[in-house]
Amino acid sequence: MRFTVIGGGVGCARFVRGLREHVRRTGGEDRIDVVVNTADDWWVSGLRIAPDHDSLLYALAGVNDAERGWGRAGETERVSAELAAWGTAPEWFTLGDLDLGTHIARTAWLRAGLTVSEVYRRLGSRWDLGVTMHPATDSEIDTHVILADGDPIHFQEWWVHHRAALPATGFVQRGIERAVPSDGALEAISGADVILIAPSNPVVSVGPVLAVPEMREALAVADAPIVGVSGIISGAVVRGMADACLATIGVETSAEAVAEHYGARASGGLLDGWLVDEADAGAVEPLERIGIRTRAVPLWMRDADTSARLAGDAVALALAPR
Ligand code: GDP
Ligand code: CA
Repeated sequence: MRFTVIGGGVGCARFVRGLREHVRRTGGEDRIDVVVNTADDWWVSGLRIAPDHDSLLYALAGVNDAERGWGRAGETERVSAELAAWGTAPEWFTLGDLDLGTHIARTAWLRAGLTVSEVYRRLGSRWDLGVTMHPATDSEIDTHVILADGDPIHFQEWWVHHRAALPATGFVQRGIERAVPSDGALEAISGADVILIAPSNPVVSVGPVLAVPEMREALAVADAPIVGVSGIISGAVVRGMADACLATIGVETSAEAVAEHYGARASGGLLDGWLVDEADAGAVEPLERIGIRTRAVPLWMRDADTSARLAGDAVALALAPR
């Protein structure tokens, strides 16, 4: 069996760890690919930063800071202090020393002419991840936020510096109209037995992957069933600020509204199936009515057990006879 997950970031990392654990518990034969969002990548101090990829990489390698929720465990910030003294990095963007090692390696390889896909392979080969990651696209498609008053700013400035509090009217991925899906992403989608949409931020983690031209078509014609997992429970995000992104594009912060936003595959949307939390069982019937097979199961990923069970529930829904 081949599982392909779409997402990027910490919510995606938790889910993929759960899926990897599910695979281990059920015989360990299945293969996992992840199509990773690249739209919150950006350039800082001459370095290419890829937050969604690196969150996955560190979590899957087991070198992440589980307490803080992001970055490397045992991190120090000596270089960052020097960069601040030189005035070359914004003081609101933390760059740990170990993390900087990753950014320097990535940038060196990009400068030497490697594609983002090739950089993913090199970074991923350091540890036994049990998962293969592919960028949604090899092109740069950095997200910018259209402010209600003022010029567009880079997504990271809006998200990290302003904590998503500046009123905004939308998001754009610069240059996305010229982007194409990476070969690895396309192959992972066409070759999948099950496609899973991680409980990642629907607007800035999953949305940009779907917005790469040709990606929607690749998903529409994929043989595999597509099942998503809600990152929204009881009308609130589990962690993070996805609610600010949903409000910006006029989508209510609820498991039901996010499923409607993705749409039923049967009517040109994304989803065959959708998992909501038991607290949102009221969403099952209305979503079933619009053609999305919906189940209410525990969605909190607290540890290896709860995450593996959630991944198992998603796979079971995808494979359930229609
Ligand atoms: P980011 O790029 O690091 O912000 O990470 P993602 O976009 O992958 O994930 C953010 C989303 O993950 C948020 O909307 C959270 O609500 C969701 N999330 C985090 N932990 C959990 C969990 O335990 N269960 C569920 N269902 N969603 C979660
Ligand atoms: Ca993200």
